[in-house]
Amino acid sequence: MNTENDPDKFRIIVSDWIEQNYPAELRQAPGADGQDPRQSKPYEQAWLQRMAEQGLLAPTWPKEYGGAGFSADQARILSQEQRRAKVRAIPISAGLSLLGPVLLEHGTPEQKSQHLSKIARNECFWCQGYSEPGSGSDLASLSTRAELIGEEFVVNGQKIWTSHADDADWMFCLVRTDPEASKHEGISFLLIDMKTPGISVSPIRLISGPSAFCQTFFDDVRVPKENLMGHLGQGWTLAKQLLQHERQALGSIGRGDARRALTLPELAAQEMGTDDLGRIADPGIRTQVAQCELDSLALRTTMSRSADEARAGQSGGHIASMLKLYGSELTTRRHELMISMRGADGIGWEGPGFTPAAMRTTRQWLRAKGNSIEGGTNEIQRNVIAKRVLDLPE
Ligand SMILES: Cc1cc2nc3c(=O)[nH]c(=O)nc-3n(C[C@H](O)[C@H](O)[C@H](O)COP(=O)(O)OP(=O)(O)OC[C@H]3O[C@@H](n4cnc5c(N)ncnc54)[C@H](O)[C@@H]3O)c2cc1C
Repeated sequence: MNTENDPDKFRIIVSDWIEQNYPAELRQAPGADGQDPRQSKPYEQAWLQRMAEQGLLAPTWPKEYGGAGFSADQARILSQEQRRAKVRAIPISAGLSLLGPVLLEHGTPEQKSQHLSKIARNECFWCQGYSEPGSGSDLASLSTRAELIGEEFVVNGQKIWTSHADDADWMFCLVRTDPEASKHEGISFLLIDMKTPGISVSPIRLISGPSAFCQTFFDDVRVPKENLMGHLGQGWTLAKQLLQHERQALGSIGRGDARRALTLPELAAQEMGTDDLGRIADPGIRTQVAQCELDSLALRTTMSRSADEARAGQSGGHIASMLKLYGSELTTRRHELMISMRGADGIGWEGPGFTPAAMRTTRQWLRAKGNSIEGGTNEIQRNVIAKRVLDLPE
């Protein structure tokens, strides 16, 4: 895409491109095609492909790494035009949203040329190997061991809650390389090809049904030493940097679910009926829906302001914890409201009388409980805010 310097001309180029390329199917409400809105569709993939061909999945990355080479201002114009055209957010791999920015900054030239273009083209699927059975909130206590023997690390141990490990091509993984060093300093950051012999993955079933969760086991897995990102013992610093991206991305969940068939007000009108003025009939529900919508709008506005500040280099890093905490609490509130609107049927699971749409609401409510845990629990976010933002004593 032409990176025209005049912002007004650039805006027209971007908006014309979206108009010509955004698939008609995605302009309809999710679910209008009669298919499960949670499943990936060929037209969604086609849209990602078109975006990727222009570098628009990673707009500020250099063109040589599959990005569009946009300046921060141009990237902001792109996201404004996407919002204006009501372009839906489609879930993308952890490679693009989490690993990419850190790899761009800390990867070796070889690592960047091996991985970044594939990530930017959405061709390579990454998973995140952080949590272990004994190390979640206290992640720095992790014990998966990587011993440097000759030209290779030999990795032994176990990761848990590894989302999509069974589909992933690669994992970015925290390992302990120095058991004698203090717990934060003995950690390194490895890029691991999931096809390497010795890796086994087993899926985990959740309360909401089959899930993307897996356990990942490492049994004498040999990883070339060139796959170390950063230097030996720098893993904790890189991990924290990556978590900021994760928390920011997770906060955006509270803005609403792009794959939901009906918006919250539409769902409320359907469930509760409407009065003569076309308003949601139940005044109590109406107030709660209005509050959720206003809070979502406030979150969206704060997120875009914070993104602008980050692009201008003015970001206080821990804003991500605040957005993640608020976004996940808002998500919980939205789901609880949806469930309560369905009265006694709200906890329907299966069997006669429960439509697939109703069961989806129940399962999404259960799945949303995970938002307060993934990427660091809400209690941990509160600790971070207390310490780093409010400067409260330990
Ligand atoms: C949907 C989802 C997706 C995930 N995907 C991944 C993934 O892809 N890769 C990955 O590596 N991990 C993943 N995780 C794991 C996630 O990062 C951990 O579950 C999380 O960090 C919490 O760790 P834990 O489950 O061990 O809980 P624990 O750390 O055992 O915490 C248990 C409870 O104690 C509280 N607690 C713990 N320490 C403190 C403290 N210091 N102060 C106050 N309260 C505290 C916690 O808030 C929590 O309520 C995912 C989790 C979920 C839910």
